[in-house]
Amino acid sequence: MELLLATGNAHKAQELRDLLSGIPVTVLSPRDVGGLPEVIEDGATFQENAAKKASSAAKHTGRWCLADDSGLCVDALEGAPGIHSARYGGTHGDDVGNNKKLLLDLAEVPEEKRGAAFVCSLALARPDGEIEIVIDGRTEGRILTEPMGVGGFGYDPLFLFSEPNLEQTGRCFASLTPPEKSAVSHRGRALRALGQELTTILEQTS
Ligand code: IMP
Repeated sequence: MELLLATGNAHKAQELRDLLSGIPVTVLSPRDVGGLPEVIEDGATFQENAAKKASSAAKHTGRWCLADDSGLCVDALEGAPGIHSARYGGTHGDDVGNNKKLLLDLAEVPEEKRGAAFVCSLALARPDGEIEIVIDGRTEGRILTEPMGVGGFGYDPLFLFSEPNLEQTGRCFASLTPPEKSAVSHRGRALRALGQELTTILEQTS
C-alpha cells in the first residue's frame, strides 16, 4: 500500500516517516506525485484543517493520503496561537518570528501560569477523498522565558515538556533526540494511535 504524506513541512514529514517506519507502507511525498494543490486552511479546528488537507490530496491523486494539522495552545492566551500557530508572527512558517511574538505576549505572565499543550490532528483519507479516520494527540508542557536547545523546529525551543513520571519531563523539546521527542510528542501519540487502524486497513486492502 502506498501512503502519500500531504504536507509541505519537511520537519513534519520526517517525523511522520520515522514514525511510519515500522508499518509496511510505501511513504510518498508531494514531490513524488508532482506536487499538490494549495489548500486554504480555513477550518475552525485542527481536525477540520487536517481533514481538508487529506481529502484534497486524495481527490487530486487518487491515493490514500495522510495529513497533519498541529499547533501550540497556550493557557494564558486562551488557546492561541492554536490553529494559527504557523503564522502567529505574521509570516507563514517563520519560526523565529513566531517564537519572538510568543515570548513578547507572555512577557508579563509568571512561571506558574505558562502552561501550554501541543496538539496534533491526523486525518487519513481514502483514494476517493472520503475521510477514513481523524485522530488527535496532545502533549502538555510549559513555555520557557528564553529559547533552549538546538534540535526540533517551530516552537520546540520554547516548550518545556512537563508531564509527570516520564523520562523526558523537565526537558525542552529542542533538547530531545528525534526518538525521545516522538515517544511523547502530540504527533507521535496521534500516529501510534492511527498505526493500529492503518494495519487493519492494510489487511483489508491487500
Ligand atoms: P500547520 O502546518 O498549519 O499544521 O502548522 C503547524 C505549526 O505549529 C508549525 O509551523 C509550528 O509552528 C507548530 N508546530 C506543530 N508541531 C510542532 C512541533 O512538533 N514542534 C514545534 N512546533 C510545532
